[in-house]
Amino acid sequence: MTTTAALTDLLTARIRAEGPITIADYMADCLLHPQLGYYATRDPLGAKGDFITAPEISQMFGELIGLALAQAWIAQGRPRPFTLAEPGPGRGTLMADLLRATRGVAGFHDAAQVTLIEASPVLREAQRARLADHAPRWIESAAQLPEAPLFLIANEFFDALPIRQFQREATGWAERRVALEHDRLALALSAPAEIPALAHRLADTRPGNVVELCPAAAPVMAEIAGRIANHGGAALIVDYGDWRSLGDTLQALRAHQPVGILECPGDADLTAHVDFEPLAQTAHRAGAHTAPLVGQGLFLERLGITARAQALARNLSGRALDELVATHRRLRHPEEMGTLFKVLGLFPGSASPPPGLEQ
Ligand code: SAH
Repeated sequence: MTTTAALTDLLTARIRAEGPITIADYMADCLLHPQLGYYATRDPLGAKGDFITAPEISQMFGELIGLALAQAWIAQGRPRPFTLAEPGPGRGTLMADLLRATRGVAGFHDAAQVTLIEASPVLREAQRARLADHAPRWIESAAQLPEAPLFLIANEFFDALPIRQFQREATGWAERRVALEHDRLALALSAPAEIPALAHRLADTRPGNVVELCPAAAPVMAEIAGRIANHGGAALIVDYGDWRSLGDTLQALRAHQPVGILECPGDADLTAHVDFEPLAQTAHRAGAHTAPLVGQGLFLERLGITARAQALARNLSGRALDELVATHRRLRHPEEMGTLFKVLGLFPGSASPPPGLEQ
């Protein structure tokens, strides 16, 4: 039996027993079910996988992030020991590039405790192989982050967390849920209700509009921001999305092609745009400061991606040089990842924003 068939049976049985389930419950089963979930069963990244990410496109991404975090560490007086953390590290590529780029930063590696949060056993093995020289440790959730200074990078992590979707009606918000129609999975709306967490969205929406909430994001963010506020550090949250996104942004990708979100549960990646405003609000409540949201292109430009590309170009010619030029464009051009992807930076009140995020 295929993953999709088995997961469809399981979801069908669940909905028969419990009634319609939220999009968040559907996403959680599709992505994280211990035997059948998308991330539980495969390495989804790269040309042969379902999607590709900035660190898999170019080593420059992880290198520049590494130098930015190391610079923030130096600016805060080189605290030791400190936690060098990454939630959702994928194949470990970003962390490997970050560590290579910071080899020359005196004391940084000795003071760093490389700490990873990864739900997928397959990817955890890839990270173990890739980062063996740095003795990484894995923790189950952000709540287990040590009470210590924290320097953290999260790239395309928050977009993988389950979201709920609500459609504005004349009398409140109807939740989009996954139900059964003639024994097949289908989307259905709940009866409208008042949703306190969406009260502030009444001002910028009209009946018919869809808005999203990501209940899993706040607890993670509160832990990260709390460590930074109490012990120092910095966090760079990179993802696609907006300050306050509007509309249905849930998408399923399989072999780099969009597919219907109910089409192949467990066999397609499911992601949604990140709403950065609630992340920033959670960070502020936990005592951390945030820098104004900037596009990935501007952020990488400020960190010197063009100089880095020129340095790499010196040893290249022909096809390799063309590829380098293409990846440089892909990471920062507004028509590619440059403006769709954003960077939210966290820092303590006692420090300046991390490099690339100064006003
Ligand atoms: N940051 C990497 C991978 C992005 S894909 C890169 O840029 O290439 C999303 C990553 O988050 C994967 O490693 C996935 O397994 C992990 N992930 C998704 N949901 C998670 C969860 N709830 N807890 C921990 N890790 C999760």
